[in-house]
Amino acid sequence: MAKIKKRSWAEPFKIKVVEPLKITTREYRENAIQEAGYNTFLLHSEDVYIDLLTDSGTNAMSDNQWAGMMLGDEAYAGSKNYYNLEEKMQQYYGYKYLVPAHQGRGAEHMISQVLIRPGMYVPGNMYFTTTRLHQELAGGTFVDVIIDEAHDPQNQHPFKGNVDLQKLEDLIKKVGADKIPYLSIAGTVNMAGGQPFSMENLKQTYDLCKKHGIRIIFDATRAVENAYFIKVREKGYEDKTIAEILKEMCSYTDGATVSAKKDLYVNIGGFLATNEYEVFEETRNIVVVYEGLHTYGGIAGRDMEAMARGIEEMVEYDQVRARIGQVEYVGENLLKHGIPIVEPVGGHAIFLDAKKFYPHIQQVDFPAQTLAAEIYIDSGVRSMERGIVSAGRNKETGDHYYPKLELVRLTFPRRVYTQAHCDVMIESIVDTFENRDKVKGLKMVYEPKYLRFFQARFERL
Ligand SMILES: *Cc1c(COP(=O)(O)O)cnc(C)c1O
Repeated sequence: MAKIKKRSWAEPFKIKVVEPLKITTREYRENAIQEAGYNTFLLHSEDVYIDLLTDSGTNAMSDNQWAGMMLGDEAYAGSKNYYNLEEKMQQYYGYKYLVPAHQGRGAEHMISQVLIRPGMYVPGNMYFTTTRLHQELAGGTFVDVIIDEAHDPQNQHPFKGNVDLQKLEDLIKKVGADKIPYLSIAGTVNMAGGQPFSMENLKQTYDLCKKHGIRIIFDATRAVENAYFIKVREKGYEDKTIAEILKEMCSYTDGATVSAKKDLYVNIGGFLATNEYEVFEETRNIVVVYEGLHTYGGIAGRDMEAMARGIEEMVEYDQVRARIGQVEYVGENLLKHGIPIVEPVGGHAIFLDAKKFYPHIQQVDFPAQTLAAEIYIDSGVRSMERGIVSAGRNKETGDHYYPKLELVRLTFPRRVYTQAHCDVMIESIVDTFENRDKVKGLKMVYEPKYLRFFQARFERL
């Protein structure tokens, strides 16, 4: 066999401050998860070794961002950090106007209230929980127009986040363009497993929307990860910088909502951006009601400064390559060991297919919830369930929803864990897989009324 030459890459940063982690025994973790009712959301963070619950607000900031924190101008009005953030947003995203918000859902709330009227329809490339909820609270109806491939966990389509233009045309024909205030497009679609859209598809979507006078509002929360996939997968973009691709993506949209807790390497913050003065003016009218004055929007000056500096760092190719490289490294190694995961591996997380992992556990006995608990017991790695528990119950029949996908999500915080941590994750999941036959499911012993996955409690069968 020919020798394959492999050149390793490593993190484009070094460690300056450390946060010590508690190393626990298996017996300790058995006890901790039992006390937490076999629900990883109820574990104390202190008892977790590697925390892959979410990548939202769990980023490590750079020394430059921390230095910026000391330059926070905490004036109630006209903070210099606001103007700095505005300048960086205009420079890198290219939109004209900025309204800060405490986090992504604050921006989603405002754009929904400003643009959606009862009886309207909002098409989108799959839903995101908070985005759809705010559209519905404003009286709108969300319509999924993502391509069918996105719903198939084994389909290898490189751009599973693409909009199905036929579905969009059908909707326009059915309800009329004047009933569609905007199309909502998300970068690296979270609920589809972190899957990107292509520039070609965005351009075509934009042309179709323009023809009918429909805006595009970009959920640019994970835009940089999407730009990276365009660079490495789409012809004609291999030599463009992440910054150029980001700007081009935004140029085919009319405005954006952003949760800074993702791409921007901060722990809190968000914003809304628009090219339309009327939308800007309306939003500034409501930001003071729900978020704060229009020059701070519920964020401290120092956090706006960290966001501004984060924008400059997020477009650095090596940073995003290392982030997605970690996810790919874990994904490739799990596949090598025959672990069933959602493919292709997305930008921010690995999804384990619990139905295939535990084929002997029926869905009513919560295979994904069980798997998340077993991985924690094995190594102290915290993941979360995305299956029957998260899906909830049918309001009419009272029975569980039985979602097609019964998954465990391992989400990677940015710049937080090393490759050795990644090896611990891989080894632990492989060990859990090898011991799969010994595991039985769980039974639910406490069920809250809303969003039950956060607080439900279980016991071993
Ligand atoms: C996290 C997220 C949001 C919501 O942002 P918050 O800051 O959590 O309110 C919206 N869209 C996407 C794609 C996200 O990942």
